[in-house]
Amino acid sequence: MTVKSFHPPVRTLMGPGPSDVHPRILEAMARPTIGHLDPLFVGMMDEMKALLQYAFKTQNELTLPVSAPGSAGMETCFVNLVEPGDKVIVCINGVFGGRMKENVERCGATPIIVEDAWGMPVDPQKVEDALKANPDTKIVAFVQAETSTGAYSDVETISKLAHAKGALIIVDAVTSLGGSPLKVDEWEVDAIYSGSQKCLSCTPGLSPVSFSTRAVETIKNRKTKAQSWFLDLSLVMNYWGGGTKRAYHHTAPINALYGLHEALVMLQEEGLEKSWQRHTDLHLALRAGFEAMGLGYLVPEAARLPQLNSVTVPEGVDEAAVRSTLLNRYNLEIGAGLGALAGKVWRFGLMGASATPKNVLFCLSALEAVLDEQNAPIARGVALDAAQKVLIAKGY
Ligand SMILES: *Cc1c(COP(=O)(O)O)cnc(C)c1O
Repeated sequence: MTVKSFHPPVRTLMGPGPSDVHPRILEAMARPTIGHLDPLFVGMMDEMKALLQYAFKTQNELTLPVSAPGSAGMETCFVNLVEPGDKVIVCINGVFGGRMKENVERCGATPIIVEDAWGMPVDPQKVEDALKANPDTKIVAFVQAETSTGAYSDVETISKLAHAKGALIIVDAVTSLGGSPLKVDEWEVDAIYSGSQKCLSCTPGLSPVSFSTRAVETIKNRKTKAQSWFLDLSLVMNYWGGGTKRAYHHTAPINALYGLHEALVMLQEEGLEKSWQRHTDLHLALRAGFEAMGLGYLVPEAARLPQLNSVTVPEGVDEAAVRSTLLNRYNLEIGAGLGALAGKVWRFGLMGASATPKNVLFCLSALEAVLDEQNAPIARGVALDAAQKVLIAKGY
């Protein structure tokens, strides 16, 4: 069998990630590969650190892209900060909180679970109660933007509660970075990780992370070695530590990093706050269209993420058939519900380069056609008008 080159179709990615990758980023990634210790590459990495500090709103020295996807950023935070015997409060309100619990257990530590229903934000009162009941808690870990449900949790409030009891916080910002307000220094976040392929609209496979001086002190005072050699920050820092004396740790994913650099340059060109605003504006337009059709949201309005819209599947509709028709006929990818939400919701992403007025209108139009074909109980011919009104009001 002679295998030919792989040529994927051009899709519109409006699921939970990856999002559409801007052509500028793909072009940057096709530039010549140079050595990972080449002075010019090292210069690019110094810029990368400054760009990530901008995106995270932090001055943290230890800010870098881990050479692996968001899950590895998650693991980097846990294996470096958590030691056997530690107590860690883990807030679970969706898939990713559950993974944090797994990480804590694999570090030989004890997770204290604070649970909220899928679709609800983390309840700060429950966190406060757990801290009171467990005064020896070392860390509170939670997800700012739960991609499995579309719920947004309040980092600033939980941070204050944890710090008042002397605990650090680990925040999952994989889906929030670039799309929702996130202020690492102002909110005193100790450890945070994100991903390249959600609101930064880069290709998957890199995980920006940042650690406060308090977190760095905790890592330096470890009694045991981190469980992972690859993710051990005391070793990674020798490469990313800055300056001219970078030592080989692993070969950096050179071209992938060109892509992330370009993505962050684009974020800076747009302006971080403007990017947050764009995600909100387009969410409001998409939502107006859904609501005009008669579709409802899973998450209560006050906790809704702009970049991840979980919409309830109407009665009698074959939700999987809707997704496959959107993909096959319109080249439009949307997400399915996960876990307990499987078959009950669709997840519409509006992340990074996917968050455009064109995509909002395209998505509503394609969805309406497919739902109409299934004789779904929706209002027809009104969604685009409702969305357009919002777009015009917002100046798009
Ligand atoms: C996507 C995602 C992850 C995992 O990132 P990968 O790049 O898929 O490893 C973790 N947390 C949240 C909230 C996510 O949305």
